[in-house]
Amino acid sequence: MGLFKAVKKPVIKSGGQAGGDISPLRPLYVPKAPPCGGSCPGGTDIRGWLTTIAQAEAYGRTPEQAYALAWEIITDRNPFPAVCGRVCPHPCEDGCNRTAKEGGVAINALERFVGDFGIAMGLKVRKLSDAQYDEPIAVVGAGPAGLSCAYQLARRGYQVTVFEGFARPGGMLRYGIPRYRLPEAVLDAEIQRVVDLGVDLRCNAVVGKDITLDQLHADYKAIFVGIGAHKGLTLGVPGEEASGVFTGTEFLNHVNSGEAVMVGDRVIVIGGGDTAIDAARGSRRLGAHVTLLYRRTRAEMPAIKPEIEGALEEGVQIEFLAAPVEILVRDGAAVGMRCIRMDLGEPDRSGRPRPVPRAGSEFDLPATTIIAAISQEPDFGPVASLRSGKDWLEIDEWGATTTSDVFAGGDDVALGLVSIAIGQGRFAAEAIDARLRGTPLRKPPALPPVTPEKMKIGWHKPSDRHERTHVSVGDRGPDTEIEFGLSEADALDEAKRCMSCGLCMDCETCWMYCTNSGFVKLPKGQHYKIKLEVCNGCKKCAEECPCGYIDMV
Ligand SMILES: Cc1cc2nc3c(=O)[nH]c(=O)nc-3n(C[C@H](O)[C@H](O)[C@H](O)COP(=O)(O)OP(=O)(O)OC[C@H]3O[C@@H](n4cnc5c(N)ncnc54)[C@H](O)[C@@H]3O)c2cc1C
Repeated sequence: MGLFKAVKKPVIKSGGQAGGDISPLRPLYVPKAPPCGGSCPGGTDIRGWLTTIAQAEAYGRTPEQAYALAWEIITDRNPFPAVCGRVCPHPCEDGCNRTAKEGGVAINALERFVGDFGIAMGLKVRKLSDAQYDEPIAVVGAGPAGLSCAYQLARRGYQVTVFEGFARPGGMLRYGIPRYRLPEAVLDAEIQRVVDLGVDLRCNAVVGKDITLDQLHADYKAIFVGIGAHKGLTLGVPGEEASGVFTGTEFLNHVNSGEAVMVGDRVIVIGGGDTAIDAARGSRRLGAHVTLLYRRTRAEMPAIKPEIEGALEEGVQIEFLAAPVEILVRDGAAVGMRCIRMDLGEPDRSGRPRPVPRAGSEFDLPATTIIAAISQEPDFGPVASLRSGKDWLEIDEWGATTTSDVFAGGDDVALGLVSIAIGQGRFAAEAIDARLRGTPLRKPPALPPVTPEKMKIGWHKPSDRHERTHVSVGDRGPDTEIEFGLSEADALDEAKRCMSCGLCMDCETCWMYCTNSGFVKLPKGQHYKIKLEVCNGCKKCAEECPCGYIDMV
C-alpha cells in the first residue's frame, strides 16, 4: 500500500493546519477524466475496470469476481476484449500518467487477460433491457463496426440481422489480420457471444447482389453500413497485370482463407502500414525472402511499431526511401521490380515529408511475387448509391448519414483501427435506439483531464511494468500465436499499478491529513464526505491526494 500507512495522523492544536498557507478556498471532490479512457476510441472505462481488479481485496471480492466484473465493464462498450487485447495498438497507454514514473500501465496486456478470462469462464453478456422491440434493424458487414452495432442494439432489445458478404464473420479481424497475431478460436468465441444475444447472422449474403439495398430500406427500420475497405489500391505502374502481383488485402485474404498461396522464394511488398507488415511477415512464413519497399524512413512508417520490430526480427528486409517504378515481366509473370531511391522533401498534406524521386537512382530487385500493400478503399461496387460523391461514407458524430435511415461507421468512413470501428458501431446503435424510441441523444459531459502535475505520483510505490513475452523467432510456425499473455500474478500486480487518476481510490490520504477531522468515511464505494464546516482551508487534502481528485474551490 501507499506511504500514508507510515504517516501518523498529525497531532495539532485546534484551528491549526498541517502545512501550507491558509486559503479561503474549500476542498471539493471533482472527478476528472484519466488520459487512458480519454484516448480509447472505443470509449471503454479503463480506469473503472483496472481499479476493480486492483481493489478486489478492499471490496471483499475474490480475484475471479473482480475479473468478471472488469470483463462486464469492458464488454459494456467493447464486445471484443480478447481480440483488442491482442491487436489494439493501445493509444490508451500513450498518455498514461504512470509514464511519468516507471512506464505506463500495460493496459492492453491486461485487457487480453480479462478477455481470455471471459472466454475461459464462458461469461455471458449483460443485456441492457428486457424490452423486445418490433423494429427490425439491418447491419451490412460483420466486421467489428457492424458487429459492435448489432451487439449494442441486441442488448437493447432489437431484432438485428447482419448481412455479411464473406463466408464467415469478422471482417478484417478474420480476413486481414494474420492468425499468428489473432487466433481464430479467440475471434470465434467473441463473435459467438454477439450471435448468442439473438443476432441473426447471414453470411455469404452480399448486399447489392444477394439482397438489394432497396429491399433493406423496405424491410428494416434502420440500416447500419460497416462494409470496411477491402479493395486494395494498385500501384499505377507498368506491369501490374502480370501474374504473381497481388494487393495486400487480396493476398492476406487468400492466406487467411486457408488457400494454398504460392509466392516463390522472393517477395517484394510495397507499403509501410499494417497491411504491408502483415503481408511481409505472412510471406516470410511461406518461406520466402522478403523485401519491403517503403518510400519514407522508419520514423514515418504508419504501421504499429512492435509489428515493424517483429518483421525485422523475423528477417524481413526493409528498403527505406525506395519506391516502385515498374514491374518487370517475363512470359506474363512478374520477375522483378524496378525501383528508385527517394529523398525527403517539404511536408505534404499529411504533414509527413514528401518523398521525392532521386533522378538516375533506379535499381532492380528480383521477385517471384509482388504485393502492393499501399492502401485500401471500400468496395462500393454493389452498393454505389451509398457513396457520398467521390468520398466514402460521410457521417455525423453519431454515425448518421444524409439518408435518414442509414448509419455507418468503421473503415468505410475512414481507414482506422478496430477500436474506432467498435466505438462508431456503438454510437450508431445509440443513435438508432434514440431515434426509434424518441429519446434524447446525449454524449456525457466532458470532465476536466487529470495530468501528472495534478497528482501525487510519488505516493505510489515504484513498480516496474510487466511486459508480454514472445515465442522465440525460431519456434514460430505459420499460425503460432507469437505473443504470450500475462500470468495471473503479473496481471494482478500490473492492475495495481493503475493510479486511479482523477477518481477516489479510498486511500485515506485526505482523511489522514485533515487535522480537523473534516472527512467522514462513507460505506465502501461511496468514498468520503467533506465536512466543510470544520475545514480551515489548509489545502493539505488537495495537495496530498494521490489521484488529483480534490480541487480547492
Ligand atoms: C491487414 C490489416 C491489419 C490490420 N491490423 C490492425 C491492428 O493490428 N489493430 C487495429 O486496431 N486495426 C488493424 N487494422 C484495421 C482494422 O482491421 C479495421 O480498422 C477494422 O477491421 C475496420 O472494421 P470494419 O467493421 O469497419 O470493417 P471490416 O473489418 O473490413 O469489415 C467489413 C465487413 O463488411 C463486409 N462487406 C463488405 N461489403 C459488403 C456487402 N456489400 N454486403 C455484405 N457485407 C459486406 C466485408 O466482407 C467485411 O466482413 C488492420 C487492417 C488490415 C487491412
